[in-house]
Amino acid sequence: MQSDHDIIIVGGGMVGAALAARLGNAGYAIGLIERGAEPTPMSGDYDLRISSLNARSLAFVKLSGTELPQERCCPFRHIDVSNLDGTGHSVFSASDSGMDDFGLFIENRTLQHALWQRLQELPSVTCYTHCAPINTLIAGDKRVVELDNGKMLSARLVVGADGARSTLRQLAGIEVTSHNYHQRALIVNVETALPQQDVSWQYFTPTGPIAMLPLPGHRASLVWYDHDETTKAREALDDDALKAAIENAYPKRLGKLTRIVARASFPIKRQHARRYIGKRLALIGDAAHVVHPLAGQGLNIGLHDADTLAEMVIKGRDPGDHINLHRFECQRRVANQAMIAATDSFHHLFTGAKPLRQLGDLSLHLAERFPLAKRMMMQQANGLNPFKRG
Ligand SMILES: Cc1cc2nc3c(=O)[nH]c(=O)nc-3n(C[C@H](O)[C@H](O)[C@H](O)COP(=O)(O)OP(=O)(O)OC[C@H]3O[C@@H](n4cnc5c(N)ncnc54)[C@H](O)[C@@H]3O)c2cc1C
Repeated sequence: MQSDHDIIIVGGGMVGAALAARLGNAGYAIGLIERGAEPTPMSGDYDLRISSLNARSLAFVKLSGTELPQERCCPFRHIDVSNLDGTGHSVFSASDSGMDDFGLFIENRTLQHALWQRLQELPSVTCYTHCAPINTLIAGDKRVVELDNGKMLSARLVVGADGARSTLRQLAGIEVTSHNYHQRALIVNVETALPQQDVSWQYFTPTGPIAMLPLPGHRASLVWYDHDETTKAREALDDDALKAAIENAYPKRLGKLTRIVARASFPIKRQHARRYIGKRLALIGDAAHVVHPLAGQGLNIGLHDADTLAEMVIKGRDPGDHINLHRFECQRRVANQAMIAATDSFHHLFTGAKPLRQLGDLSLHLAERFPLAKRMMMQQANGLNPFKRG
């Protein structure tokens, strides 16, 4: 038997669930397909995977009627970018742009769980868990998706939000370009002697950046980028040795660590789909693009894709209208390509050969000297139009 929806979304991660909640809240009949289980709430220690949500992403999440648990969110008001040897330094403050904060840090699972909670309240949304697509084809003005549990679903638009290894993208025959940075990000959740701060700081070193992302209370998420093998060796250290290595490599402002809570490492790559659309099909989030995480923008640009697509669906008559999808692709591909290029240049400017690193230092000096340029960079990072006044 075939179940019909207005829109099918493959992948119930943060981006797919946010789109489902936004369109479900607007009354569309949504079928959300998730390979895994429904997310469970977080309690106790903070999860390793956290993300920053900028002003635009928060506004989009709010439009779906989703409430975020404030006790697990950590707003931040300053971004401090420096070179570990002190040759370049720039501080970005939300107040310089007339904002209270830059946004907040939240655990990926907490955000995903809050979105799914909202989906349960929306009668027009049906969630299909523990299943994945194995085939898709066009039938008249619908796209049909065959699932590995034997179910057939159809809709006027099918959206792939199933992450970097997207099955839907492969079934649609869409290729990607990709680049491996041969780096890993070691994420370490720690308890700090110093109280929580409202600043997210990042220091560039010749082997990669080291960063502190604040969490509520005496907690922080440390990110340490380095070559694959060095990172794997560091990840295998016992708690005392890892604590000593962090205190030795990180700037003094981190203070003493009272506990290593958890650690894991992730490979760093960039990837871009050659097309974002097909007949009655669109890709969003990591299914469409993966950017270097050093600027904390991957999820934000994924939610921006979802926001743009949702607006087009809501304003149009047919969710899968090719002209609208084409417009979506033009807008988002150009913006995401610019973000991929910007994070790639940051990586090379600060971890490349010495002349490049000197250029990186200069760019930090220039950002500090020219308030207008700095303000535009902050607007851009917040998903806002840097050319808009006020
Ligand atoms: C170290 C690191 C730090 C980061 N920090 C930040 C940050 O601070 N800010 C930020 O904006 N971004 C950050 N990012 C990027 C961010 O994590 C990703 O961009 C984001 O998770 C992408 O979300 P998504 O929903 O598109 O994909 P995913 O999170 O990959 O979700 C995909 C979903 O689809 C499901 N799925 C997969 N395959 C199938 C299938 N075949 N059928 C059905 N379901 C399927 C999965 O189970 C999952 O639920 C970081 C990334 C890394 C590696």
